[in-house]
Amino acid sequence: MTAKTIDGRAIAKEVRAAVAADVAAMVAEGHKPPGLATVLVGENPASQVYVRMKHKACEKAGITSFQHTLPATATQEEVEAMVKELNANPEVHGILVQLPLPNGLDDERVLNSISIDKDVDGFHPINIGRLAQKGREPQFIPCTPHGCIHLLKTSGIELEGANAVVLGRSNIVGMPVALLLVEENATVTICHSRTRNLAEKCREADILIAAVGRPEMVKADWIKPGAAVIDVGVNRIDDPTAERGYRLVGDVAYDEANEVAGYLTPVPGGVGPMTIAMLLRNTVRAAKIAYGG
Ligand code: NDP
Repeated sequence: MTAKTIDGRAIAKEVRAAVAADVAAMVAEGHKPPGLATVLVGENPASQVYVRMKHKACEKAGITSFQHTLPATATQEEVEAMVKELNANPEVHGILVQLPLPNGLDDERVLNSISIDKDVDGFHPINIGRLAQKGREPQFIPCTPHGCIHLLKTSGIELEGANAVVLGRSNIVGMPVALLLVEENATVTICHSRTRNLAEKCREADILIAAVGRPEMVKADWIKPGAAVIDVGVNRIDDPTAERGYRLVGDVAYDEANEVAGYLTPVPGGVGPMTIAMLLRNTVRAAKIAYGG
């Protein structure tokens, strides 16, 4: 059996079209378009690429974007002062501080300084805290984890009562995606670098979400036949035949997993496009909140 491909590009395109329609309706009602401000500190090349992609996506959806950059030498106070300024700017509905911040900066303090109504990345401690509590609703849900759940739901995969295994427990992917799965009434196991019998744990999963950052770690015999596998990993591996000298692979050994899984996301073209689509969706939501909707 070959797995059904979960096409993140196509699903993200639908989300972005809905976002663009929402923006157009907002503008037709006489409002300013939603505004997203990004704050990039330092010159991390991957972060620069991500920020550029986010601005391009905003432009396509009719969202105004404001790009702020600070040098890697910026102080904690300077970064927080910039966030405060953006908190007070009525044209800015969403604020995204691109992580990771350069060494020496305290990201928790920076995230804490973002207005909870503009926290479109969903990483403010209050939003994460609400995510972890039964019956509480965060103002915004983190984009990559939300994208994973959206992919599963759009593919018609039953979450309620399913055995879900999340490989990875980071603040930005593993832990929030596990919390979202609990919210969806899945039974969740969180695995990490100290987990014993990892392959065995993964083999119990009806839904397996891999977010470890280890190229092709999840092999075919880690996967329960027919399981839905969401590969969040984005890893560069050397490839002399590729123009750039490298190619991107996920945390799942795609070709062999494809023979066992029921559903599988490719890398690239799976979770990646969803992250930006969900960010745009959160930004529109932030504007609606600001406009009293
Ligand atoms: P982190 O490095 O922050 O976390 C990795 C997690 O994996 C940790 O919990 C770690 O365990 C666990 N882990 C690492 N090695 C092993 C191992 N050998 N066995 C078991 N568990 C292990 O990574 P992120 O969560 O930030 O990112 C994970 C991947 O997702 C990366 O490839 C990243 O590039 C990608 N990513 C993709 C996004 C997208 O939009 N597609 C967005 C964000 C990330 P422990 O806690 O014990 O250290």
